[in-house]
Amino acid sequence: MSRFMDNKLKALEPYTPGEQPPDMDGLIKLNTNESPFPPSPMVLAALNRGEMEKLRLYSDPECGPFITAIAESHGVGTENVFPCNGSDEALAFCFHGLCQNGAAYADVTYGFYRVFAAMFGVEPHVVPLREDFSLNTDDYSGLRATVFIANPNAPTGIALPAGDIERLLNMDRDRLVIVDEAYVEFGAETALPLLKRHENLLIVRTFSKSRSLAGARLGYAIGPAEIIADLNTMKYSFNPYNVGRMGILAGEAAMKDAKYFEVCCAAIMENREYTTRQLRGLGFTVPESKANFIFAGGHPWLTGGDFFRLLREKGILVRHFPAARTENYVRITIGTQEQMHRLVNAAKEIVEGGLSHA
Ligand SMILES: *Cc1c(COP(=O)(O)O)cnc(C)c1O
Repeated sequence: MSRFMDNKLKALEPYTPGEQPPDMDGLIKLNTNESPFPPSPMVLAALNRGEMEKLRLYSDPECGPFITAIAESHGVGTENVFPCNGSDEALAFCFHGLCQNGAAYADVTYGFYRVFAAMFGVEPHVVPLREDFSLNTDDYSGLRATVFIANPNAPTGIALPAGDIERLLNMDRDRLVIVDEAYVEFGAETALPLLKRHENLLIVRTFSKSRSLAGARLGYAIGPAEIIADLNTMKYSFNPYNVGRMGILAGEAAMKDAKYFEVCCAAIMENREYTTRQLRGLGFTVPESKANFIFAGGHPWLTGGDFFRLLREKGILVRHFPAARTENYVRITIGTQEQMHRLVNAAKEIVEGGLSHA
């Protein structure tokens, strides 16, 4: 660290992104919850040479066509949609400007919440999940801090019913609840219908997982117009052109191609059920996932760390979180059928190989 780094950031421990190996040959990448499918053909058509020639011009700061496509798809007004450079950007603004009384989030959840709280000097209230990684809404009663719920949760994949989100909203109508729906399209219940009855709800979504656009950096928040205006105040005080020209076009096209999106999500859900069944059959504990990944571990004799390492030796990259409650698990992104067959076969070899040594 240089001597110029501000004292208030000296203890900051940044988020560790999953590995992005520059050379993928032979490697099956199941470590960052990307889609195994290419973006919609409509996205590829939208990003043409003519549009690239316009890159000398700044992008539309309002992201007009992009937020219109999102608003139409969800049946809300454009004043209810905040466009952002990956949903992490919206989450950063939430921590920076909407956490007057601190931030409450689970002990096992998206690792960025802890980092954002530290980065922006927000007081953290860490609320432990139950032993089985489920969330008890009662644990949030009496807390005034802004509540962050990843739904489905990461890295467990466990979803919370909309009724539980509504309970959190009703507990204290002066407390903001932010629902991070990065993975909601893979089978969980969205909180979107609750926006009609609740003014203390903000929903954050991303194009990185279900819409095959992780590299485009696109996300959005949906909520009451006043909160969206607050987010815009922060955006226009930081980076008004936060979504680039190609991103606006790609996001608009991806949002409009509902059919392609549904086919991709259905394939992921099918492959997820297959992989879950197979790994359970090999002795792994796998909580029911509603995301495009599963959390597999708790094996009678194979540790999470060893499973991670042995898969890596077989050319399969998954994610291991070496914190106390997660170290005995790995998070496996759901890929194509072929990729999941190879993952399951590798897991079989590892488990059966281990038994023959025992
Ligand atoms: C991946 C992810 C995000 C952020 O994704 P972006 O690529 O920044 O849009 C946000 N929340 C959770 C829980 C995630 O897993």
